[in-house]
Formats: sequence, C-alpha cells, structure tokens
Amino acid sequence: MDTGWIRLPWQDTVWQQLQAPGASMHHAMLLRGPAGIGKGRLARALAASLLCQRPGPSRDACGGCDSCGWLMAGNHPDFRRLSPAATLAEEAEIDGEGDATDAGSASKKPSQQITIDQIRGLASFMALTTHRGGARVLLVEPADTLNLAAANALLKTLEEPPPATRFVLVTGQPRRLPATVLSRCLSIHLPLPSAQQARHWLTQQGIAEPADLLAQAGGRPLLALELADPERAAARRQFLAQLSRPDFDPHGLAEKAHRDSVPLWVEWMQTWCHDLLLIQVGGLPRFHADEQPALQGLAQRADRGRLLDWELRLRTARWESRQSVNARLFCDDLLMDYRQLFT
Ligand SMILES: [Zn+2]
Repeated sequence: MDTGWIRLPWQDTVWQQLQAPGASMHHAMLLRGPAGIGKGRLARALAASLLCQRPGPSRDACGGCDSCGWLMAGNHPDFRRLSPAATLAEEAEIDGEGDATDAGSASKKPSQQITIDQIRGLASFMALTTHRGGARVLLVEPADTLNLAAANALLKTLEEPPPATRFVLVTGQPRRLPATVLSRCLSIHLPLPSAQQARHWLTQQGIAEPADLLAQAGGRPLLALELADPERAAARRQFLAQLSRPDFDPHGLAEKAHRDSVPLWVEWMQTWCHDLLLIQVGGLPRFHADEQPALQGLAQRADRGRLLDWELRLRTARWESRQSVNARLFCDDLLMDYRQLFT
C-alpha cells in the first residue's frame, strides 16, 4: 500500500472509533481537526478500508486485492475525490503532469472552491451499480471549500444516498460548512498526537532534531515535516527577520508576496502574534522559541489593544488567504497593521 493510504501511528484510537458499530454504519463521516495532523491520510485509509476486498483484522485495507490496486493506480471505478480545481492543478504540477496542456488556459485561474459543476459531474458515478456490489466512496477534501450551490447540491445526495454509498468529508474549519450538511454527517474530531508520538514519527521521517520544528508547527507533525524543507525554513527565517525589526518596510516586504506564499506568511504572522501575546502575560514563546530575544523586545513595545485586534484580524485572514486575493495588497494591509503595533 502506498503510504498516502495508510493511517498514521497516532490514529489508532480514532480508527477504533471509526470502526465502532455506530460509526461504521454511518453513510457520511466528517473528519475534523487542525491542519497538519493527517486528516487526509486518515480519510484515505478509511476510503481504502471501505473499498478493500480483504481488509485485515483491524479493518485496514490489505494493499493486495484488485480494489486496493485500482485505488493506488488512481482508477478505482467506485472512488471519487472532490477537491478545488486549484488544488488538483497544484498536485498535477508537483507530479509533473498538466503544465504543457495548461499553457493555453493560463489566463483562467483554477477555482479555489468545489463548484456545483463538480457535484453535477458525479451523476453517472452515483447512478451506476458498484463493482461486485461493494461500496462506493466519495471523498470531499477540504469540505469547507464547497461553495454554497455545491453544498446544497451535495446535500440532496447526502439526504438520499444511492445504495452502499459512503461519504468521507475532511475539514479544518467545520464552521464554514452549512449546518444542513453538518447535520447529515457523523462528526469525528482528530486530536493532536502526543509530543512523544509526534517526535518519534518525525525521527522516523529522517528529522534529527524534531523538537523545535514541532514547536513551530504547534505540535502538528505533518506541518513540522513541511517546515523541515530547507527552502521553507530559509523563507521563514527571512520573513521573521523582517518582523523582528519594527522599523522594517511593510511595502517592500509585501512586494515580495506571492499567491503561494500568502497562507504561509499568515501562519507565521499568526504564530508570531500568539507568541507576543504569551510574552506580554509573562509566558514563554510557544512557536518561535528560537526568536525569543527579538520577541521579548517587541512584546515590551507593542500596544496590547492593537495586538489583540491584529490577532482577530489574522484569524479571518487565515481563511481569506486561501481564497483568490491580491497577494501584495493583502499582505501589505496585514503588515501595515503590524507596524502600527509599535507606533
Ligand atoms: Zn485490499
């Protein structure tokens, strides 16, 4: 089985929850929890297990049957995944596909949302009889990117699903989902792994000193692994070096903002802000322990009320940053607010 379809070591308890009689009979599961803890991995492991012809004693997919083979090859007739076109395009680019064919359509940006056309496109998938009378699985990831029309269209299928159909929805932001959709799903919360589990797993991935990375990632191991990427680590250092000088030039920094970097920048600003607030109440930085001296100096100078306002602003910015925004203007705005903390 490709690792992408195998659940992570800290997901044993939640896996048992998913296999318990009440949950295993439910046609729609909503897996929720923060980003970077392996929701997608668990969702894929669950999909594979539902489709597998010879699941093991813990109901994990066998990896050897026809069904598992088709899943790995990406052509299982009874499996579909719904994700925003932008996400799929990014993945295709990473896999080295699609760039040649996209050259002509470069002017039209792929959508950041799951659209109603994508739901309509499922009609024949939902209508056909499943292979050998097995399950049919629809993975929706992330479910909070369903736009309203798409959510309403999906709701109809959720309310009256075709036989043997199972839905697996994944979200880090369940509040962004319509209550009608939420009410049709069995919601399962994925907790953070223990620090020991996370460190152990990171060590197995080849990270020699996982503690600092794990702190920067707020205890989320998959995010910590991303942060270990040397390019990303360098980008973080450069960005934080700017934030640590209150006389930095927000416009100059914003000029360097790129659509792909915006969610990262927002994440760094948010954790930076969190650490400043912690220090102001006499605590120690949680995310950026390696920047403690700079944070201490800034925390003394920052206006408390404005800092709290900035914190609130960053919470919405995190979601907005995944939408279509003008990267430069968006970051300019946030960085200007940051500068104001020290005037
Ligand atoms: Zn199998």
